[in-house]
Amino acid sequence: MMSKNYPRGAERIQSFGTTVFTVWTQLAQKYQALNLGQGFPDFSPPEFVREAGRKAMEGYQQYAPLKGLAALRNALAQETAREWGRLVDAETEITVTVGATEAIFAVIQALIDRDDEVILIEPFYDSYPASILMAGGQPRFVPLRPNAAQQWTLDIDELRQAITPRTKALMLNTPHNPTGKCFTAQELHDIAEVCIQHDLLVIADEVYDRLLFDDRKHLSIATLPGMWERTLTIGSAGKTFSVTGWKIGWVLAPPDLTHALQMAQQWIPFSVATPLQAAVADVLQQAQANTYYSDLRAFYQKKRDFFFRVLQEADLNPYPAEGTYFIVADTSAWGFDNDETFCHHLTTQYGVVAIPPSYFFSPQNKHIAHKMARFAFCKEDHILEAAAERLRKK
Ligand code: PMP
Ligand code: GLN
Repeated sequence: MMSKNYPRGAERIQSFGTTVFTVWTQLAQKYQALNLGQGFPDFSPPEFVREAGRKAMEGYQQYAPLKGLAALRNALAQETAREWGRLVDAETEITVTVGATEAIFAVIQALIDRDDEVILIEPFYDSYPASILMAGGQPRFVPLRPNAAQQWTLDIDELRQAITPRTKALMLNTPHNPTGKCFTAQELHDIAEVCIQHDLLVIADEVYDRLLFDDRKHLSIATLPGMWERTLTIGSAGKTFSVTGWKIGWVLAPPDLTHALQMAQQWIPFSVATPLQAAVADVLQQAQANTYYSDLRAFYQKKRDFFFRVLQEADLNPYPAEGTYFIVADTSAWGFDNDETFCHHLTTQYGVVAIPPSYFFSPQNKHIAHKMARFAFCKEDHILEAAAERLRKK
């Protein structure tokens, strides 16, 4: 048999490398370093979450409906009514997905045609450009830049300038990975105004909506005037309930966008793991009735405060960490040329893994992150303390 003399993978995947999270988790294992790189909790979720998982596993073994288990869609509708003061229709406006990653992929497959442009605010979550490229679309980048007070700011005129007649959508992540920024009400209003003026769709990735600090309140862009009609809001149980491996996510969107999403969704997973959906429905109901959400904030606030001080003491000047479970630090005082070299040094010489944030920028803007590192603090206290001990050795 003749072998074909070209790569067997399709053209659409040829530019992809292995994800930054896989690479640095493998390095953590190789050097037996403390993994403050990949964002996943290294502790068990609370007992009521694990119990819901065990119970659901007994009762649900067959396919769920395409749009998701009714119990989960109803629990999400109830939660949204409480948080947004808006009745989202569980039948026509909610879709359950395989985590937020598949939600992002399916939404883009459903909405983006070849050569459509999608605006990404950078640093961006790494699956955004890959999902856009696989749909044949084109990412267009608008950077956040830190100001003198280390606040990450968006230049709204730069956003306007990035819009062309081919621009179909903008992706917005708040609270923001990797910076920990929570977009202010003013910024969200400004972005909303631009999107309405240019008739853009908004894909709002709000997977960290329960992880805000210092009494901040999460604001969803979908709740601003004129925005519900053009916004798809993505959530995930993974972060909120410390079950990143369950891969249960969802999308809230008006009926026409939900219909389009479900036309793609039916050919991607068809439906999502039934017992895990039942478990998340149960967990959401319990969390609405107990103090879980405020306990979670207090739990992470303590970790954030602790690790923020650790970074200050280690001359790794932290940027404000307003939400998510990440802190970006300014590594200038350590004297490395770029973030990758710094992170390698930290892994091999200090046994602590952080993520080089330039991975989350387009080539022309990588320089913004060259003196930065992202640390995940969703780790057990003794791991954070051990990391502190190692960093103090500088
Ligand atoms: N969006 C952002 C901003 C994330 O940080 C993550 C994962 N950490 C995801 C989406 C993917 O979420 P999931 O694990 O539910 O697929
Ligand atoms: N979102 C997590 C992070 O930012 C990792 C998720 C993944 O490994 N794909 O660290």
